[in-house]
Amino acid sequence: MSWEETGTREYPCPCKQSTYSVVFLSDDWNRHEQSWVMNCLVCRANYEIYSYWGNDSDGLTIENKFWVKKGSVALLDENENRLQDIKEEAVSYAKKLYLKQWLASFEDTKSLKKIWALLSNLFSNQPSLSAFYVHIKNSGVSEYLTSEFNFQNLQRLLTHLQVVDTTVQERLQSAKVQQDEVSRVKASLFENGFR
Ligand SMILES: [Zn+2]
Repeated sequence: MSWEETGTREYPCPCKQSTYSVVFLSDDWNRHEQSWVMNCLVCRANYEIYSYWGNDSDGLTIENKFWVKKGSVALLDENENRLQDIKEEAVSYAKKLYLKQWLASFEDTKSLKKIWALLSNLFSNQPSLSAFYVHIKNSGVSEYLTSEFNFQNLQRLLTHLQVVDTTVQERLQSAKVQQDEVSRVKASLFENGFR
């Protein structure tokens, strides 16, 4: 099984003085790929590829590519990593203080179905009851509850426990600020992208 070239097309490069080539590839499984090659030396020094996964008009998952100014991808990565760090720190700080309290709040709930109902009422991302049983069978109740102590659930979880903690709130706020920064950097990357 190997990739085979099925065609090549040339397009004007960003500075319009030369071109870039898109090489179309497909394999025995009828999977498609594109390899983008910058033919312009000036643009090769100034641009790099940004790629992301999206859906085409038939709903198939495809890799989209376009040219962006060099350094843009690293800047986005840097901001996304920073956001990830802030989220992880917020969760690990809150866990140290409130995980015990979170687990204890379920101690009197003996029925798994009731635990599931409680969690479903609290968080919008809960699995179906049958999927929940499978999770519990694999990991156990307290592991499952611990895994629900995550960033996405943090605010609702603390409100549920009636915890008021300004440090956690500050961290949630800086995550929000950083999330906005990621969105801004990404929007600018898409706006200035070239294809
Ligand atoms: Zn060029």
